[in-house]
Amino acid sequence: MAEAPQDKGKPDRPVRKKKGLIMVNTGDGKGKTTAALGVCFRAAGNKMKTLMVQFIKGNWKYGELEAAKKMDGFFEIHQMGEGFTWDTKNPERDKELCEKAWKFGYDAMVSGDYDLVVFDEINYVIDYNYLDVDKVVKGLKQKPEMVHVIFTGRNAHPKVVEAADLVSEIKEIKHPYKDQGIIAQRGIEF
Ligand code: ATP
Ligand code: MG
Repeated sequence: MAEAPQDKGKPDRPVRKKKGLIMVNTGDGKGKTTAALGVCFRAAGNKMKTLMVQFIKGNWKYGELEAAKKMDGFFEIHQMGEGFTWDTKNPERDKELCEKAWKFGYDAMVSGDYDLVVFDEINYVIDYNYLDVDKVVKGLKQKPEMVHVIFTGRNAHPKVVEAADLVSEIKEIKHPYKDQGIIAQRGIEF
């Protein structure tokens, strides 16, 4: 991940403007997707149209899918992936899925139909060269002014960090699986 810029260009006085933010949740600790879901929950509660596009997950029974349905149409989740382990013997197919997920999210982002669009695990996908970072950053520049965007996933690309307004890194200190072999718990992981 890129180092935070030394000179953040902070103005002398706060700039009181409303603006759609580009946000990134990265780092090796658990909580990147969860934090994005928290923002979706908050936005949907404000009657903002919210979309999460999941690049890796597909056909998984997650609590958040059921919870999103209870948000009066303000929160949609689309699973565009085909599982956790892609068929690495077929990288072309994996790339195709990622391109499809990107196009889906991009179209939603520029459509003006959504106030917040989350690209879940896109950092990981870029890191694996399944999506071209320059294309993604160029796409972000097409974002309507007021639309908020969140990218999640480890190893955020420096060009994504540069394009973002807000970048948070979640650092692992302990994880129950790593430290104690404890498996995923309902309501916490899924
Ligand atoms: P979550 O979806 O729970 O917020 P995340 O988005 O931060 O997690 P991912 O990189 O998407 O993390 O990984 C998803 C899965 O991997 C989750 O089940 C999570 O518990 C697990 N995981 C995340 N970080 C770690 C870690 N440091 N060690 C072991 N497992 C991890
Ligand atoms: Mg995640």
